Amino acid sequence: MTIDQNTFIYAPELRGNRRVLVTGGAGFLGSHLCEALLARGDEVLCLDNFFTGRKLNVAHLLGNPRFEVLRHDVTHPLFVEVDRIFNLACPASPIHYQYNPVKTIKTSVLGAIHMLGLAKRVKARILQASTSEVYGNPDVHPQTEAYWGHVNPIGIRSCYDEGKRAAECLFMDYHRQNRVDVRLVRIFNTYGPRMLPNDGRVVSNFIVQALRGEPLTVYGDGSQTRSFCYVDDLVEGLLRMMDQEETIGPVNLGNPHEFTILELAEQVRAMTGARCEIRFLPLPSDDPTQRQPDIRLARERLGWEPRVPLTEGLRRTVEYFEGLLAQG
Ligand code: NAD
Ligand code: UDP
Repeated sequence: MTIDQNTFIYAPELRGNRRVLVTGGAGFLGSHLCEALLARGDEVLCLDNFFTGRKLNVAHLLGNPRFEVLRHDVTHPLFVEVDRIFNLACPASPIHYQYNPVKTIKTSVLGAIHMLGLAKRVKARILQASTSEVYGNPDVHPQTEAYWGHVNPIGIRSCYDEGKRAAECLFMDYHRQNRVDVRLVRIFNTYGPRMLPNDGRVVSNFIVQALRGEPLTVYGDGSQTRSFCYVDDLVEGLLRMMDQEETIGPVNLGNPHEFTILELAEQVRAMTGARCEIRFLPLPSDDPTQRQPDIRLARERLGWEPRVPLTEGLRRTVEYFEGLLAQG
């Protein structure tokens, strides 16, 4: 088959790649996802308002002719031609999403409406980065996708939790009402290089504190649990979810190995060789006491499970922060 060079013809099967929009593409997860998409031959439009994202996260990709960055806020409509959309735009760490809670919920809700509207117009498949926070402080353990959650609608985490729940609702309604081709994943705590050192999330906090020889700040008595997934595993899960035809979700993506926060502190201390003390601080309100994904659905439908153990993921993340802190 020949292609008329004077006319723009788009047919993915001819080019062997797709035009992919990643909202929140300059953030922690988004930048790793952009890299993975480029590596497999896709064209990537990285959209970000740079609230918690950094140009530096994607600076190494700028020389690639298949990569483009767009400064845009998802609370405003967007008109572009794409085949696929990964909707990741939203601050994810409690200190950042609580900084301007009204903006956080607008980002989730208006962002979902605008990106779903775009997907509807251009007939793109769209994936929503939802969260384990939709389960709130769960009274079912581990959490399966069938569990509806136990969420405080009026607390300090609600702007994020309820924003993400409303976004899930919008995704399912656009799917049922307008036949938009949606995918929903619920991401559990994920860590790795390019988290912000002042991000406030527990893995980056402990590593930065240990490397600086400062006390590790454990909130509460440290008996609350989380299950930590390394970023490379998570990105593979996102791609598998987007690429398959059968399951729209929601599907949990996370590492099922559960640790107490105190155990994590001990691991970081041992790995960095830091002699710093552990300082116990008050537990923030509505902090979930336990969280562990049931990933049977991801295993069955996506053939996916995490491969990077916590020790290895922490080693790579410590290495990243050592490099970052050495730059001053
Ligand atoms: P992040 O803060 O590093 O990335 C979010 C990105 O979205 C940033 O680049 C930020 O600048 C951008 N952004 C925020 N508001 C925006 C807006 N209004 N318009 C355009 N861009 C905007 O966080 P992350 O950890 O990379 O999280 C990415 C997504 O994954 C988020 O939607 C988050 O809710 C979800 N998620 C992450 C985790 C995790 O553990 N990392 C867990 C559950 C869900
Ligand atoms: N946490 C902590 N010390 C810190 C930062 C967080 O003990 O310096 C705790 C926090 O209270 C929570 C857990 O670690 O119980 C995970 O916090 P994070 O903000 O990383 O994620 P989320 O609470 O959203 O799961």
